Amino acid sequence: MKASSYLIPTAKEDPQDAVVASHKLMMRAGLVRKSAAGLYSYLPLGLRILKKIEGIVRSEMDRAGALEFQLPILTPSEIWKESGRWDKMGKEMFRLKDRHDNESCLGPTHEESFCVLVKPMVRSYKDLPINVYQIHTKFRDEIRPRFGVIRSREFTMKDAYSFHLDDESLDKTYQTMRKTYRRIFAGMGLATIPVQADSGNMGGSASEEFMVVSPIGEETLTICPSCQYSGNIEKTPVIQNPKTGKQPFAGSEKLHTPSKKTITEVAEFLKTKEENLLKAVALWADGTYVLVFLEGDRELNENKLKNHLGCNELRPMGPAEMEKLGLVPGFIGPGFSKSEQLKVIIDSLIDWNFAYISGANEVDHHTSGIKLTNFFKEEEVTKIDVSQAKVGDPCPSCGTGLTAEKGIEVGHIFKLGQKYSKAFDITVLNDKGKATTTTMGCYGIGVNRCMATVIEQCNDDKGIYWPVSIAPFTVCLVSIAKNPEDIAKIESIYQALVAAGIEVLWDDRDLGPGFKFKDSELIGFPIRLTLGKGFLEKGEITVLDRKSMVEETVPFTTNEDLVGKLQKQIQTLRETLQNAVEQVGT
Ligand code: ATP
Ligand code: MG
Repeated sequence: MKASSYLIPTAKEDPQDAVVASHKLMMRAGLVRKSAAGLYSYLPLGLRILKKIEGIVRSEMDRAGALEFQLPILTPSEIWKESGRWDKMGKEMFRLKDRHDNESCLGPTHEESFCVLVKPMVRSYKDLPINVYQIHTKFRDEIRPRFGVIRSREFTMKDAYSFHLDDESLDKTYQTMRKTYRRIFAGMGLATIPVQADSGNMGGSASEEFMVVSPIGEETLTICPSCQYSGNIEKTPVIQNPKTGKQPFAGSEKLHTPSKKTITEVAEFLKTKEENLLKAVALWADGTYVLVFLEGDRELNENKLKNHLGCNELRPMGPAEMEKLGLVPGFIGPGFSKSEQLKVIIDSLIDWNFAYISGANEVDHHTSGIKLTNFFKEEEVTKIDVSQAKVGDPCPSCGTGLTAEKGIEVGHIFKLGQKYSKAFDITVLNDKGKATTTTMGCYGIGVNRCMATVIEQCNDDKGIYWPVSIAPFTVCLVSIAKNPEDIAKIESIYQALVAAGIEVLWDDRDLGPGFKFKDSELIGFPIRLTLGKGFLEKGEITVLDRKSMVEETVPFTTNEDLVGKLQKQIQTLRETLQNAVEQVGT
């Protein structure tokens, strides 16, 4: 490809609305353009990268025996009603009505569609297992589309769904997908950590997210420094209080705490540790009122609570609701006036015999010496783990203190179980001829998010350095020839590279060398071949490795030699990635 007939709209300045490196660089390198909030157009260079990522995903999925499909993006409301998700999905779903007033949505995910499609095609256990997938557009009306294509409203996902006769078969495919995912990410140069994850509104038993450690990550991962455990903080069980030998606040009395409502304010005012206080969180959960007690230094993990309650929407109670229930905002303690309407949940870290300070259920007052045993019978309340894990909490597997990292979720695998196969009544005849409900798995990868995440990991002050497997072109040939004879010489080298199957972008634009160098470093072609003044005057060529920025100048001999030299260098880059893939295993 010649740059003179290509489109390379690079920019020096960062776009104003971009805050993370990948977003800035994708815009500056001319890979994408924003069309509206959370909507991006891919320009030719960007699309080449996206297609290469899709290619890696496709070849690994095919290798694992999955079958590629393509389904309509527009999906009828009926199938969502059948699974019960038409209401559950909430505002994230783009809904619309056609001219006949039929309701549909732009698919945010395709469990329902694939279930309906696959159901009549599987009749016997002999038709199973089957793993079906597509690489296609998804729509999600995200509350906060941000970080460019990392969280957009329209994006490409590889979504796969597997159907099985039993759990053993599901587990086998799940493990294959787990490996396939690690091979896919390694193939595009991403180092990922699989973490135990929450199944959210997907239902199902096991799920893991593939995380790329990054300071811009929206997820927090807990990692055990001694064993293999890693989890999404949303899911990490807090099995035991790491604090021992806690000293309670002396006395048992009513304390005047004027306008001190938060745990921090009260602890500071009383000159005690936050852990000596009882935190009360009043919530509304799908129409039920819930009051949760935690130790003062603990945050509520809403996810754990939601899973326990099986609720969709959880929000703090409003002042009017609190008043109706006799709760005093900011000063709630275990002595609140009990109500049938209020469900009490006590975090399992709370020590029932410890004398805490809690709200006195009276404005501007707290009470010390509060022991839960004096207020509740253990069997009357729910005691569960609802606190958010923290650095230093014991690892749920081995007890070592956990560490934490921020991570970007690039993929997610689930064991769905029978949630959808029951809803859509997907049964097959087993080997005894008995109708058996199938069980399912589902597996997603965000293709555009992967592209941005690679940039997050592979950038420097000059721009991007693409892993060779997904680079828009492998080699950028920079020349500065002016007269026809020199141009012809370079053209013959360019043609030799093309003929050898090397993906080369020849920057033959009528621009200065400095400008061309900057563009090639910004866009991030893995190798740059310069045929400049040195070539024309002394017969020298310069080859730059973009990642290390190490340059080598050698005499030019023949086109064949040059092709051979570049092929060797490309091979070395490919082998490094391939080794990472092979390390995952097959
Ligand atoms: P998140 O927690 O980041 O919102 P999710 O859990 O909703 O993601 P899944 O439903 O598991 O995502 O979708 C599978 C994959 O699709 C994710 O791992 C991610 O890579 C990608 N993805 C999800 N939402 C978006 C989005 N708004 N923009 C780009 N990619 C996305
Ligand atoms: Mg997810």
